[in-house]
Amino acid sequence: MKIALTAAALLLASTASAKTVVVTADRMVDVLSGKMVEQPVVVITDGRIASVVSAGTQRPFIPEGAERIDLPGKTILPGLIDMHVHLGGTPLVQGYRALEYTDSFNTVMAVPNAEATLKAGFTTVRSLGDYDYADVALQQAIDDGFLPGPRIVPATYALGATGGHCDENTNRPSDAKTSPGVADGPEAVRAKVRELRKLGARVLKVCATGGVFSRNTDPGAQQMTYEELKMAADEAHMLGMKSAAHAHGADGIKAAIRAGIDTIEHVSFIDDEGIRLAKEKGTWLGFDVYNTEYTLSEGEANGVLPENLEKERRVGTIQRENFAKAAKAEAKMIFSTDGGIYPHGLNARQFAVMVRFGLSPIQAIRTATSNAAQALGWEKDVGAIAVGRYGDIIAIEGDPLADVSLLEKVDVVIKGGERVNQDR
Ligand SMILES: [Zn+2]
Repeated sequence: MKIALTAAALLLASTASAKTVVVTADRMVDVLSGKMVEQPVVVITDGRIASVVSAGTQRPFIPEGAERIDLPGKTILPGLIDMHVHLGGTPLVQGYRALEYTDSFNTVMAVPNAEATLKAGFTTVRSLGDYDYADVALQQAIDDGFLPGPRIVPATYALGATGGHCDENTNRPSDAKTSPGVADGPEAVRAKVRELRKLGARVLKVCATGGVFSRNTDPGAQQMTYEELKMAADEAHMLGMKSAAHAHGADGIKAAIRAGIDTIEHVSFIDDEGIRLAKEKGTWLGFDVYNTEYTLSEGEANGVLPENLEKERRVGTIQRENFAKAAKAEAKMIFSTDGGIYPHGLNARQFAVMVRFGLSPIQAIRTATSNAAQALGWEKDVGAIAVGRYGDIIAIEGDPLADVSLLEKVDVVIKGGERVNQDR
């Protein structure tokens, strides 16, 4: 009896200390059903969603003493997810201009960049390649409440070939450097995946082809063999990590898909066979279709090298044509913007480009919510306003299913049931 009483007292105490937040609004986009829900009432207990009802049809249970976040006139959606950002990337410092700054510059800049990303409504991001383990430090600082920012899935350094897109190719030979992510040959790749995991990586990023922003690499050319990619994907999966491949060229894209890589990033020159393969294997495609405008209008002033601008011109148009093809073929899509190539916080500008090139607004919204959550393997945690998931919610004016560009202006951000301060 005594024990039972103690247990009851403990239960009471824990109920009393549970923090409950109630969010109400005019409308909610239910990304899972694709429908608009009127008068939503969302109850968040200790950071996770405990119930979601429509006040018109059901009576919500609101615990006494609950904190209220009433958002009259607003439409709420799940917190957005960008599957490809570089939080340490600062678009104003490109090309050789980066050599004027000290080594930890990118690490320091990652702090305001993470905050800008969160305030723009992105409550979860994958950091697909950062210097100095900045993404791991940020993840720790944010998760432990020292800094504002999104939930971060860090890749640390991108794994790639010697002289490839993710190596250090800017210096002259006498100052040559090798990226800590470089590995050549399957066994070296195996060891590198284990090392990155040990140093904090929670997703593996590989560079399967050349890229736009590196020196002396051809975006169309494959840079990792099928055997290396297969080793990378298998080793990541064994360690419980998803894998992402930077891939522009058609051959590198197909090799990465066949190797079992989970998400293909950029996807610029994908051909019909690649689209068919991606559908067959269930591979997610992350076309970064927004940043071309920014690079072509601001890049030169920011120090982007002529070689890189020329490559962007070559890649941008074809990438959008192939995005339209993949959209028509109903390939599985995620929201990957390459944030850091353009200023952090403008991520949502990609929605309108996705709609312009063939997705419906709800399809575009799903790339950054329910689809992204699945691709992360976090479908129980993020990507929808649904029971059990984190209380990650954004509020905007108007109907994003009619005009998806409304997502570019997020008025309120709630992460884990906590309202984010938008004033600072
Ligand atoms: Zn990138």
